[in-house]
Amino acid sequence: MAGGRIFRNMSKTSAYAAASAKAPLAPWSFERRELRGHDVMIDIKYCGICHSDIHQARDEWGGSIFPMVPGHEIAGVVTAVGGQVTKYKPGDHAGVGCFVDSDRTCPECSSGLEQYCDGGLVLTYNSKEHDGTPTMGGYSERIVVDENYVLRIPGNLPLDGAAPLLCAGITLYSPLRHWHAGPGTQVAIVGLGGLGHMGVKLAHAMGAEVTVLSQSLKKQQDGTRLGADHFYATADPETFTRLRRGFDLIINTVSAGIDWNQYLALLKTDGVMVVVGAPEKPVPVNAFPLIIGRHSLAGSAIGGIRETQEMLDFCGKHNITSDIEVIPIQQVNEAYERVLRSDVRYRFVIDMASLSAGRV
Ligand code: NAP
Ligand code: ZN
Repeated sequence: MAGGRIFRNMSKTSAYAAASAKAPLAPWSFERRELRGHDVMIDIKYCGICHSDIHQARDEWGGSIFPMVPGHEIAGVVTAVGGQVTKYKPGDHAGVGCFVDSDRTCPECSSGLEQYCDGGLVLTYNSKEHDGTPTMGGYSERIVVDENYVLRIPGNLPLDGAAPLLCAGITLYSPLRHWHAGPGTQVAIVGLGGLGHMGVKLAHAMGAEVTVLSQSLKKQQDGTRLGADHFYATADPETFTRLRRGFDLIINTVSAGIDWNQYLALLKTDGVMVVVGAPEKPVPVNAFPLIIGRHSLAGSAIGGIRETQEMLDFCGKHNITSDIEVIPIQQVNEAYERVLRSDVRYRFVIDMASLSAGRV
């Protein structure tokens, strides 16, 4: 081995996969590609369970590719690198988020907004490489990714708590930065789940005044601990009267269809509601809650590579990780059901060592 370079052939990789939209996840294996010049091989230690994994494994957004190995909140250790890799070496703590390639030449890619690459984006799973190979995600023992799509996890952050930063963290960090959350701004986070709880931590660390809008008051104590200044139940109609015209920025993380009109009415003049939750069915929006107060309704998807690294470094500096419940992979189907019941505090993270423990 010279200069930290190790070469390996295609490797059989244990995983959990969904065989179809109706099937529970079950043990499966497949081949990861041989290391190319710029590839990094990562031994996956932990992978978060994002609600998007459930939407896609159950084909709720349409067009799912099966068999599917979900998982795009990947944290692990580099075990091998290709001959031209300069950014990583074996032993580094590395992460992979929601995409593993893009066309690299379009205006979006050139400006660090790879997540909006039009046509060439390769998602970490449920997608195809440019050569047509289906991608397989993080519920697996290792992954091979081009170094330009790998993130560095700060050394002070534990890999289990850091894994959810790769999707939940960046999905909230990006709109909070883009719409200038900070001292003097009133930010509401709708839905205290995986994304929402990261939103509370990040907005608080940025200096904003943070309000949680949750279905009930059950998570109120947690909200305060996570950094929320205020907490309201959306099941109480009084909440929508009391908070009318109260926020500069609302980030809606809810995975189900809710009445967005009610929330638009909570914006101050020129306020923005950013939708990051992706419900299965369309949500009707009326003109008046937009017209009155010159409100904007926007959307946002994860973040580019540069911004994801900035978010990880911000979390390293502020010691921010996700609040997690670590599970063996054998409990993944049960965990999905609990996510659907909003019964997760606040992210399930799979301990990938359990894959080999369960191997026959
Ligand atoms: P999650 O952990 O299940 O959190 C969603 C939260 O929404 C729940 O904890 C719950 O919070 C609230 N909620 C759920 N059902 C509700 C209902 N019927 N009415 C009102 N509130 C409800 O999910 P997640 O992983 O944070 O993901 C949230 C959504 O974001 C998903 O649709 C996911 O696909 C999407 N997503 C988008 C991006 C992006 O780039 N835009 C990235 C990742 C995920 P309370 O208990 O506090 O009410
Ligand atoms: Zn996700």
